[in-house]
This record gives sequence, C-alpha cells and structure tokens, in this order.
Amino acid sequence: MSNEMSQPVPRPGILDIAAYVPGKEHAPGVARVFKLSSNETPLGASPKAVAAFKQAADHLERYPDGQALELREAIASVHGLNVANLMCGNGSDELLGLLCHVYLGPGDEAIITEHGFLVYKIQIMGAGATPVTVKERDCQVDVDAILAAVTDKTRMVFIANPGNPTGTYVPVSEIRRLQAALPKHVMLVLDAAYAEYVRRNDYEAGIEIVSSSKNVVMTRTFSKVYGLAALRVGWMYGPIEIIDAMNRVRGPFNLNAPAIAAGAAAIRDQAFIAGAVAHNNLWLDKLTTAFEAIGLKATPSVANFVLIHFPDVDGKRAADADEFLTGRGYILRAVRAYGFPNSLRMSVGTEEANRGVIEALGEFMGRKA
Ligand SMILES: *Cc1c(COP(=O)(O)O)cnc(C)c1O
Repeated sequence: MSNEMSQPVPRPGILDIAAYVPGKEHAPGVARVFKLSSNETPLGASPKAVAAFKQAADHLERYPDGQALELREAIASVHGLNVANLMCGNGSDELLGLLCHVYLGPGDEAIITEHGFLVYKIQIMGAGATPVTVKERDCQVDVDAILAAVTDKTRMVFIANPGNPTGTYVPVSEIRRLQAALPKHVMLVLDAAYAEYVRRNDYEAGIEIVSSSKNVVMTRTFSKVYGLAALRVGWMYGPIEIIDAMNRVRGPFNLNAPAIAAGAAAIRDQAFIAGAVAHNNLWLDKLTTAFEAIGLKATPSVANFVLIHFPDVDGKRAADADEFLTGRGYILRAVRAYGFPNSLRMSVGTEEANRGVIEALGEFMGRKA
C-alpha cells in the first residue's frame, strides 16, 4: 500500500472551503431580541400553511411523495407552468448544490459576482470546480464583466436577482443580453429568492427566459416571503433535460411530507403574500429615508432587506454599530464575508423592530431620527 494515510482524506479543494456562517441569533443579556439578520419575514407563514403542517403530523410514519407532486402542482398552477419543468429541493440551497454536482467537475470554471451569495462559491468548490469572481459596479451585477470572464472552461454563471446582500436587481433586458451572448453550453442560474418582493416594471424573475431557452434555470424559495425557512422548501424551473439529470442524483425523498403540504398551502394563499409584500415595501421606503436622514448611506433595495453603509470614522464603523445595536436587542447581519467590511444588512422587520432600529441608529450617529 503506497498511498497509505492515517485517516480518510477529503477530495482536493474541500478543505479550502470556508463553511457558511448563518446570521447571528442571540444578544446575550438582552431580554427582547429582534432577529433581523437572516431575511426572514416578520409576519410568519400563512395560517393555512401552518394548518397543513399540523395535519401532516398525523402520518409521520409514511414516506413522503418522492415526486412532491402536490407542491409542484400548486406551484405550476399559481405561476402558469408545466409540472414537468419543476423540481423541488430541501431549500433552494439543495438545488444550487445539485446543479453544481451534476454540471461541474475539476477543471471547470463557474462565474460568480463580487457580492454574490456565498452558497454558490461553496457548492462550486464542493464539486471540485473553480469559482471565478467578477467585479460588480456600485453594488450592481455587471453583465459586461461577466461576459469578459467567460473562457473555454466556463460551465455556469450564477446571478442572484435581486442580489443578496445588495438588494439591487438586474433588469430583464440585461439578463436577456447576457443569455444571448453566453455560449449555449454554459448554464445561467437565476437565483430569484426575493422575486416576490420586487415591484419594478423592468424586472422579471426568469420564467420567460427559462421557457424560451435551453441553458437557463431559475431557483425560488419558500424561506423568504412565504415564511417557511424552518421547513426547507425551494423549487427550480428549468428545461426538462436539466430537471431529468438532477432527478437522477437527488435524494429520493428530498422534501419531507409536512414541508410539501405546508408549501402547497402557502403558495395557494396569495392574499396573505400580498399583505406581506405591502408591509415590506412600505417599510423599505421608510427605512431607507430614515437612514439617509441620520447620515447613513443605504443601497436602494427591491428585496426585504437594506444594506446600510457606515462612515469610516473611529467609533462609527459597522462593527461599532453592530455592537451598539446588539446591546439593544437588534441583531443585524455583518457582511464582511460578502465584501462589505463597513456595512450591515438589516432585514425589514415588524413596525416595532423597524422603528426601534431607526431610533437606535439615530442615537448611535448622534442625530435625531
Ligand atoms: C435566502 C436565500 C436563498 C434561499 O435559500 P433556501 O435554501 O431556499 O432557504 C437563496 N438564495 C439567496 C440569494 C438567498 O438570499
């Protein structure tokens, strides 16, 4: 035995991966905590989804439907899609991982953007491939920079639209220009985790472009506006050939039964979602205006969070604000790992939480909110 090791060793590259660090949850010593660090909805899930979840508890001895048909049919009917082009995942994170494991290997490159979602890089490296990071322009994905980075090794391009943690979006005309210019064998992954929140005429989550091409997929999630983050439910819309390849590799029962039932009930309750979006967009405006009034910059966001930039002044940096806010029970997200060492991301919360953060940051900045 020539290659003998003292213990099992992972594939090359695995130990170079920096594991994902979720948003903080605790503020030690503070009685009342507002968690605004993970872009969860402050309004919870639809009561109909909660009822469906409870009902599913009566038959936990049964395996779930491995096709998640009830959920795929609900998604298909709400969005006007073909069930055969839909695949569900244990969160959209699972789908992003499966895409990488099915379409990437050593020697391949996948393009991500400067402030892109960290899961892409983790999964690309997990598949043994090489992430290629391109610059954004003023917190905006730059289609020309992506195209300039394409080589004969490029296999995939990942775009979060809207972006996290920036909250900015790429207009549909730019997505179309990118798709038209990419080689046909390069897959474009549109991660539309926050699509439900966007109210812009020049935005499209990706349904039309997926329907009219063979190399684009769109991923979506029930973790954000639908309020089911705990259950881990995501879905993907894509060409049948890509769905078929992924179905061969996924776990045969990758969604659990309560998740399937709750997801189907949640997406059918669009009235509940309309209320959640209205609350969000009202507060998105109020928060952005309030932060600018106290001397902070906020990147204009179309999602359910705001990226706040702090002054480069001793005692007023993002780390100082983080400590100040945590001490008052407001937990925001440090975004250093996303290329923003002096910014914090705040999820839109309840009215009480939002007003509390505005007031606390006013105090922190020494200005009245
Ligand atoms: C929150 C989020 C997701 C959702 O992940 P799930 O695994 O479905 O919870 C996907 N992409 C981005 C950019 C996100 O911010």
